Amino acid sequence: MGRKDECAVGEGKGLESKAGGQDKMENRKLRFKLINRQQMMLRPIEVDRLVPEDHEVRAIWEFVGRLDLSWYYEAIEVVEGEAGRPALNPHLMISLWIYAYSKGAGSAREISRLCEYDPAYQWLTGLEGVNHHSLSDFRVRHKEALDELFTQVLGLLSAEGLVTLERVMHDGTKVKAYASADTFRREQRVRAHLEVARQQVERMGDPRTAEEVSPRVAKARERAAREKQQRLEEALRELEKIRASKSSLEEKQGARVSMTDPEARVMKQSDGGYAPSYNVQISTDAKEKVIVGIGVSQSGSDYGELVPAVDRVEANVGQEPGQIVVDGGFTSRDNILAMSEREVDLIGSMGTGTSQSAGQMKRRGVDPSFYPEAFHYDGISDTYSCPAGKILRANGEEKRPGRTNYKYRACATDCQRCPFQQKCCPQNVPRSIVQGVDAPEVAAFIAKMETDEGKKIYRQRGPVAEFPNAWIKNKIGLRQFRLRGLVKVGMEVLWAALTYNIKQWIRLCWRPQWA
Ligand code: SF4
Repeated sequence: MGRKDECAVGEGKGLESKAGGQDKMENRKLRFKLINRQQMMLRPIEVDRLVPEDHEVRAIWEFVGRLDLSWYYEAIEVVEGEAGRPALNPHLMISLWIYAYSKGAGSAREISRLCEYDPAYQWLTGLEGVNHHSLSDFRVRHKEALDELFTQVLGLLSAEGLVTLERVMHDGTKVKAYASADTFRREQRVRAHLEVARQQVERMGDPRTAEEVSPRVAKARERAAREKQQRLEEALRELEKIRASKSSLEEKQGARVSMTDPEARVMKQSDGGYAPSYNVQISTDAKEKVIVGIGVSQSGSDYGELVPAVDRVEANVGQEPGQIVVDGGFTSRDNILAMSEREVDLIGSMGTGTSQSAGQMKRRGVDPSFYPEAFHYDGISDTYSCPAGKILRANGEEKRPGRTNYKYRACATDCQRCPFQQKCCPQNVPRSIVQGVDAPEVAAFIAKMETDEGKKIYRQRGPVAEFPNAWIKNKIGLRQFRLRGLVKVGMEVLWAALTYNIKQWIRLCWRPQWA
């Protein structure tokens, strides 16, 4: 009996569980539908029917078809009537990447494989294969064209009424770099590796040390060695930048840089741990949660990211947001002043804290009963009186962005003779008090955030701002970059934002043609 027949007929033993039925079962031979894996079959395929009419891949193809792709076409050299292989249409390549990202497939090899058997990819390509090198190059080759594409997409979404810029929620999220923590080295080690890499590149041109390999392999090895040398040279340049950002000599001497992704920085993660990462900044229009700006930064802090975010939104949509809502990580006095100057209504959380916080007092060893609240201010004489009844007089001022700090100091002999000295100024320095006065813009911001309206708007921030963050990480799977370097990871997040926005358009606007 052949394998085909074995699949078709089975013995009934063991299938009957009831006592009494077993004898009856042993006399029967069960018959199953054939599974014949040896047969050859030719089937006609109607490519357009590989996916149903309401399949989202059709929507993506339709949407990309509405975009002006001339930026991409300009780079194509193959023309009708001349020699050379036909180029892959940018309409196809963009649609492939968008559809792949929407399904969480972010690797060129994976997409190339999917084109061989997945009906949606086959529908896009018309059953043709697409080489993974072509896909990979296309993703990172056209930076300006991709920026332009993002702007165009926002133009179409604005025309559909999905973007108003009346209220924009902005947030930052850390995405891990394509480099592990153990690739970070100090200068000495980087220089040692660079020397080895340079020697390796030099040896490649020497016929005495050449190995017996094919020209293709030799070329690939040479390219890899040169790239390694360039990466290590870049690591030294980045190390200088890292040093410049450190304040103490000890920190400067201990600075380290990744040898695989020199532009990545070690950043604190949401789970409290630290990892090589980039800081992804996302601005989301509150109306329909469309991403109106996305960027990548090397800074672990969000304070410096608000102004560039507003610049990006303006560059993408052609106007500034009417209102921007951020969390405490962005709400500095500098940013309040900057937004006020640009007439962008800033909503955010910020402590009104005094210039001398409880933390500072604690660090100086001051007893809580001698914190600034225990000192009484007299506006007429412009002096403070301390718990011991002594006077602290004005002693200069310090101007900072959005705030002026007025200093008051006690008389040195008063403090030296005071029975409370150990509780009030244990460091043996005459006690001082700092009175901070906010600039009018900052005071207005703080007053606004104390109103019910200000608090109500701020409460809307989380659900809107964190939605695209979560979508990009969970649906697209961008918890870790698949590319290296600031420019390339910037392009990766742009692809992700494009995908997210087109998905929003499909959800809110697209109807299949039959519908
Ligand atoms: S230490 Fe100086 S400031 Fe403090 S309570 Fe005594 S006199 Fe006043």
